[in-house]
Amino acid sequence: MRYISTRGQAPALNFEDVLLTGLASDGGLYVPENLPRFTLEEIASWADLPYHELAFRVMRPFVAGSIADADFRRILEETYSVGEKGVFAHEAVAPLRPLKGNEWVLELFHGPTLAFKDFALQLLGRLLDHVLEKRGERVVILGATSGDTGSAAIEGCRRCANVDIFILHPHQRVSEVQRRQMTTILGDNIHNIAVEGNFDDCQEMVKASFADQGFLKGTRLVAVNSINWARIMAQIVYYFHAALQLGAPARSIAFSVPTGNFGDIFAGYLARNMGLPISQLIVATNRNDILHRFMSGNRYAKETLHPTLSPSMDIMVSSNFERLLFDLHGRNGAAIAALMDSFRQGGGFSVEDERWSEARKLFDSLAVSDAETCSTIAEVFDACGELLDPHTAIGVRAARECRRSLSSPMVTLGTAHPVKFPDAVREAGVARALELPAHLADLFQREERCTVLPNQLQAIQAFVGQHGNRGKPL
Ligand SMILES: *Cc1c(COP(=O)(O)O)cnc(C)c1O
Repeated sequence: MRYISTRGQAPALNFEDVLLTGLASDGGLYVPENLPRFTLEEIASWADLPYHELAFRVMRPFVAGSIADADFRRILEETYSVGEKGVFAHEAVAPLRPLKGNEWVLELFHGPTLAFKDFALQLLGRLLDHVLEKRGERVVILGATSGDTGSAAIEGCRRCANVDIFILHPHQRVSEVQRRQMTTILGDNIHNIAVEGNFDDCQEMVKASFADQGFLKGTRLVAVNSINWARIMAQIVYYFHAALQLGAPARSIAFSVPTGNFGDIFAGYLARNMGLPISQLIVATNRNDILHRFMSGNRYAKETLHPTLSPSMDIMVSSNFERLLFDLHGRNGAAIAALMDSFRQGGGFSVEDERWSEARKLFDSLAVSDAETCSTIAEVFDACGELLDPHTAIGVRAARECRRSLSSPMVTLGTAHPVKFPDAVREAGVARALELPAHLADLFQREERCTVLPNQLQAIQAFVGQHGNRGKPL
């Protein structure tokens, strides 16, 4: 499989090279040159497969030519293993829970860090290890996190022999659970940096480092945020998994997806284009609603950031949205480059009516306030006994308001475990004790390791240069 850039100017790459990169050299994002397409008969034949085998069938075309079948199978068996020694705590890996009226929550939070990002980052770490071992190379991972990405990336890469991972988080601005999930994983290749600044400062320094990699002395820099294609790829699988359990492909399924960077929901869009009958995709945002403003009013423009009870979706721009725009513009890279240029220069943009209408055939959207988030947590707990985290609650709220058909099952992606966001649960007035799962029970007693650095690019880059080779200088 070959991958091309959404801006049309960078060279096409194979899977291995896409895995080992960040943005394309023209500033675009990599997407598959041709999306695989499965027949309904083929999809139907997967109904009883265990998660790891379904993952193999769905993702195999994307890694073709780079990773041998036997290796890929073994990697997936390990990634999606269950039970005491396994990676995921639930037998079903991604269980479906019924709410009321043919509504479901797909629980994606039974991995090591209790959020859906484990599905992709557990795989990413293993793929990196496999590919780097084969090539005899080492890489440095540099990422910024406002919470969930950092811990999932560190958990996913902690055992990688050929990876040093540096995660920047804003000092004193992530929750204690989130911080401890990162800083208590000890290893000479794991480096937590608390930056004296906010999340955007962290993000900017990561971006600047990708643009100018001199400080790395030739070591490759790899991205772990959702611009990395392998993350999107891994997320396609659970759409198939959920839909098959609910009677697809004989019937169609609707999904509601709490989203910030448009990563998770873009995977659903791809699942549909690969042949899975998805009748509707709902973009569920919090008050940071750039995606909702596009879907409801055809205007994509940056606004100020509002901190909310669902911090993992607190974004101003949505990095993966460019991948959808590319398709909406007939995969014309020059058109996307022009659009993104005007966006960068401060203006927002609208797209031609036909393109917007095309998107609206599949997508609906809603922005949900903190108050509505809390009332949804309370409502669902009272009616169904299910305790939702604030991100998932936003998804359920949007599912209820935007649902087109009562006869299609409606699945909300459950993106995080409620124990990660106790403040929202408390604010919702739900009186239920929240307990960390067994593997994290002693989280508050564990030793933490973290370096506080000033909000200066040079300080960050010097630190990476000093510690990028298993704690030693590059
Ligand atoms: C990262 C995250 C999201 C947003 O995912 P995107 O891929 O950016 O849309 C939603 N909920 C939780 C809990 C997350 O950690």
